Amino acid sequence: MATWSRLLGVTTALTLAIGVAAGCSSDDSGMTSDGKVAVVASTNVWASVAEAVGGEHADVSALYTSADGDPHEFEANAKDTAKVADAGVVVLNGGHYDAYMESAPKNSDAIVINAFDIMEGDEHSDEHDGNDHDSGHDEGDHSHAPGAVNEHVFYNLTAVGEVANRIANALSEKDPANEQYFRDNAGAFNDQINELHAELAAIKAANPGATVAQTEPLAGYLLAEAGLDDVTPAGLQDAVEAGQSPSARDVAATHELISGRGVRALIYNTQAVDDGTKALLAIADKAGVPVVDLTETFPSGVTNYIDWQRANVEALTSALAASANSTR
Ligand SMILES: [Zn+2]
Repeated sequence: MATWSRLLGVTTALTLAIGVAAGCSSDDSGMTSDGKVAVVASTNVWASVAEAVGGEHADVSALYTSADGDPHEFEANAKDTAKVADAGVVVLNGGHYDAYMESAPKNSDAIVINAFDIMEGDEHSDEHDGNDHDSGHDEGDHSHAPGAVNEHVFYNLTAVGEVANRIANALSEKDPANEQYFRDNAGAFNDQINELHAELAAIKAANPGATVAQTEPLAGYLLAEAGLDDVTPAGLQDAVEAGQSPSARDVAATHELISGRGVRALIYNTQAVDDGTKALLAIADKAGVPVVDLTETFPSGVTNYIDWQRANVEALTSALAASANSTR
């Protein structure tokens, strides 16, 4: 995998070199021709956070915008990497979720915001990270085994709120005249994040000790904050996320867990579906275990991070209420 991204990186660099020679690359400012900060994010989820902060003074684009498919498996094309190269601010998930963004060549003045590193408390994550540092940065920082730390940072509301603040810092550096505007927007975004924190606290208060299962560790941070105990065998989640077949033992244990109603809800990632997850869905339906559909990127019709997570939290609240009623 790492070898592949390195090979792709070389191809990309060549493509970009040709682009520069042909004069189709923008200047080095990281600004659009109409004076907005050019921001590129790996997915529409991170782009939405950047839009909430940047508003009318940022030109935000996302590379992965599909409501289907698996963003883990996305591979950037030459057009995508050219966008990264031209951006003044790059917002990425990190933690191997969007490695193509980490390795893509960037404007030497680009500010890179790595959500995973921010969550992990890496103070250097949003420093200037031009091409000079890329090769050293990518290989050394992530010594943990894949799956050891949950990389779905966009389900960690505290980290997302902090990412919004870091985006405000970055945009202010690029466009100092609008610093107050960016800070106000980040503040308003965090007010909405705080409302979601309150809803999760309400779930925790109403469902002490509740257990749930999920088909991959997608919503781990959200569930933890809601006080829900994810009792899915870890081997099953890791296999689904890696696109591999889980062991027969983990599958059997999970089937038993759901059919025996050992969980109050099944959290279902609609963007990592295979025969195994479909079987879990059928068992949950049969056993009367409520299913909460969650996604990695916005479902169609959703364009806003807060709306998306509010709907997710409300779906979780409803599922737990339904299962509480049916077991009493
Ligand atoms: Zn995932």
